[in-house]
Amino acid sequence: MHVRFWGTRGSLPIPGPDTLRFGGNTSCVEVRTDSGTHVIIDCGSGLHGLGQALVGARKSALKGHILISHTHWDHIQGIPFFAPFFIPENEWDIYAPKGLGQSVQDTLAGQMQYAYFPVRLDQMGAKIRYHELVEGDFQIGDVSIRTRYLNHTALTLGFRLEADGAALVYASDHEPFQRHLASGNGEILGQDRKHCEFLAGADLVIHDAQFTLHEYADKVGWGHSTVDYAVAVCRAAGAARLALTHHDPLRTDDAIEQIVKDALEKQRGVKPPLDIFAAAEGQEVHLKARDNAPRPAISTDAALSDATALVSLLVLMAVKDPIAANTIREAVQADDIALVEVESANEALTTAQSVRPSLIIIEAGQSDADPGKGGRSTNDIPILVVAEKEKALAWTNAAIAGWLIKPFSSAYARTRIRACLLRTACRWERALTTINEEQRLAALHGLSILDTPPEERFDRITRLAASSFKVPMALVSLVDRERQWFKSAHGLDVAETSRETSFCSHAVSSREVLVVPDTFHDPRFADNPLVTQGPRIRFYAGCPIFVGADCVGTVCVLDQRPRQIDAEAVSQLRYFAALIELELCKRQSKSE
Ligand SMILES: [Zn+2]
Ligand SMILES: [Zn+2]
Repeated sequence: MHVRFWGTRGSLPIPGPDTLRFGGNTSCVEVRTDSGTHVIIDCGSGLHGLGQALVGARKSALKGHILISHTHWDHIQGIPFFAPFFIPENEWDIYAPKGLGQSVQDTLAGQMQYAYFPVRLDQMGAKIRYHELVEGDFQIGDVSIRTRYLNHTALTLGFRLEADGAALVYASDHEPFQRHLASGNGEILGQDRKHCEFLAGADLVIHDAQFTLHEYADKVGWGHSTVDYAVAVCRAAGAARLALTHHDPLRTDDAIEQIVKDALEKQRGVKPPLDIFAAAEGQEVHLKARDNAPRPAISTDAALSDATALVSLLVLMAVKDPIAANTIREAVQADDIALVEVESANEALTTAQSVRPSLIIIEAGQSDADPGKGGRSTNDIPILVVAEKEKALAWTNAAIAGWLIKPFSSAYARTRIRACLLRTACRWERALTTINEEQRLAALHGLSILDTPPEERFDRITRLAASSFKVPMALVSLVDRERQWFKSAHGLDVAETSRETSFCSHAVSSREVLVVPDTFHDPRFADNPLVTQGPRIRFYAGCPIFVGADCVGTVCVLDQRPRQIDAEAVSQLRYFAALIELELCKRQSKSE
């Protein structure tokens, strides 16, 4: 993997004699894999030079992918000046965090309105496709990408890219969640620990290091890291190299060199060595495969979001501190999210049972609140805790999604709330349990078929279904209390899966044919593990199977590609279900 820095400056382009060595252009990094996949991260003013180079060297149409961490100006201001966007045969894919309300395209178009720029975004010529990202994994060519929300004043994603056996992390515009970690000392816990996991074993981490520890004292809440924090998290993550970036506009070349010298001095003798350098415009780094690096497994395609996921959001709040409460109100209102306020954390947790909010915000120190006690589970509704500092709570099952450490700004609260909401919005749904569940299970168990060996009379039906739908997988799935068990599984190597993730369970509870043409575009399934990991279901069609009046399971066909099916295909699926029902009846009469 080849990495080249085109812009390393934070906040504002700062050309001049004092910034010649490390560069004056704002954030832009180019990545190329050995096989030629071309990915650009962030579009600061450095993008201009990259665009010129690409157009100068081009032999055919230019195609590439652009990841945008967030839409602060220093990360997008190069877009209107990116020459490849003006050439009609070129094709580019832009990926950026999904906001609440406005689309990525609208946000980017904002800086190109008539008052600011002579050409509109949609007039640029090249074919530009927009993709909205949430937290998760996806794939571009041979690059596996993981995204993670960073701690910044705007909704910001970090990117972890893996290709050619190497791992690169880009984490710019990020501040320690635990503020005291700015010093580089102290135990790394909670969200900061998760941040380390995101960096785990990276061959190169390009990390925000805008401030020195001394400067940070006046810049708490600005959304940027200290050099010491960047070093500490890279060390904890076992990263090999650290490129300090987002250099402060006031930092001269000499000052940057001094910072690197100081950082290396502090690390002298610490094993294993961490290679620390300041990212410089024009600098190239070649990343080679490194053995034994700890790497989290990256799946594909779960981070791409669709627009339907964010409807009817409701936040439930129990915060007594009037300043904090007011700041949160402002933040929530700015995004047009409904807010329900209650007196105590306890009341919030009780109310959550009936109103099912998307997020609960409570204040730490309300000792009566324990979401794990008395069966008042919040069923995975994320909880944001307002506190003086992050600390261990005595809660057992609490789904603590994050912290709002006082004092905080409304912009900061807004970012944290958005991050929590977007994580919830894309959680897959478990199907509702059927009304006559006990009777249904009695009918299923009455068949005495669960855990019996495969039988050709069922297998030939799934084989036939798979071939007539031209799909790789077809199943006879029987939905038990906590699992779905497959009497016949064509093209799938497992005997059962949990009911939690079961698609068939949805068909059983609705007693109707269920067709999911593309799981990525269905909020019920988009981040279901059967979608994001093996067997990576993209298409599902299942028809309920009945024994008497009770629905015991489905016959279903699955594919790893999205598909549309017509009414004729649905009736075909019903015939297959009828054939299975016939076989089940035979079995029932035999056992009687
Ligand atoms: Zn920035
Ligand atoms: Zn920023």
